[in-house]
Amino acid sequence: MTGKIIKGISGFYYVHVVESGIYECKAKGSFRNQNIKPLVGDNVDIDIIDEEGKKGNITAIHERTNQLLRPAVSNVDQAVVIFAVTKPAPNTNLLDRFLVFMEREQVPTLICFNKSDLADDKELEELRRTYENSGCRVIFTSARDEKGLSELQSLLEGKVSTVAGPSGVGKSSLINLLQSGVSMETGEISKKIERGKHTTRHSQLIPIKDDTYIMDTPGFSTLYLENFEKEDLKEYYNEFQEYFRDCRFMGCNHMSEPDCAVKQAVENGDIPKVRYENYRTLFEELSQVKKY
Ligand code: GDP
Ligand code: ZN
Repeated sequence: MTGKIIKGISGFYYVHVVESGIYECKAKGSFRNQNIKPLVGDNVDIDIIDEEGKKGNITAIHERTNQLLRPAVSNVDQAVVIFAVTKPAPNTNLLDRFLVFMEREQVPTLICFNKSDLADDKELEELRRTYENSGCRVIFTSARDEKGLSELQSLLEGKVSTVAGPSGVGKSSLINLLQSGVSMETGEISKKIERGKHTTRHSQLIPIKDDTYIMDTPGFSTLYLENFEKEDLKEYYNEFQEYFRDCRFMGCNHMSEPDCAVKQAVENGDIPKVRYENYRTLFEELSQVKKY
């Protein structure tokens, strides 16, 4: 049988099998000799040892498409980053940092602006325009009015998504709404997993539909751009790509170089000022990082 590890607690792995529920498993496969440790997100083969008690052994780990360190999870299809349109006002610096981070991990990101009920059309349009050429899909939701939820749901469908956002933006409200349609069987997971509560916080996938999972990622606190050359930063800005070949200097960083086509595009309003200014901030920050 094949399933997905949705949680690991002190040597036990909880494997979700779409047709039949959650199995508490131990790792017994030959992969143990290869120094591979099962990871949340792994697709695995299991042998059932007790169908009634829902216990099994993991016998094989399928090849991973990718692997994130923080949160520790494999086979991530996309990241969903949630900000509020207001209350709190979106910290675009934080948002852009997240986008760079995920872009570098080659994980596509969906930007979800929640609390759309609190802003007028003009404010929404401003946000939409700021990110329309970022390379990320942008959607607006209101957890309060349950608006934009079906669009969000359809973008999650059949995928594993890590969901992040600063506190107060409505992340829990949205996740609760997404979970409300979950089947009884899946609802049992939380009960089963409660037993491991004494352990520290682990990453966990929440099944919200057959093969649709989300991972609630706590905070942004660990989002450093490590091992990152400032000269590489510009590569992660989709908006810059069509202009940079017109810069006077090859390898132009679009900072203080003369005849910079990117800066010109910002002047002309073709690249959102906010995005460019956040780029400068990040570039300067990376310039100060100590080199070892
Ligand atoms: P979290 O910290 O991101 O998990 O945010 P919560 O889900 O706890 O929500 C924070 C506050 O914002 C709560 O008072 C929610 O009722 C409120 N809230 C969440 N979503 C919305 C929304 O779409 N519109 C409005 N007006 N308030 C919301
Ligand atoms: Zn330039």
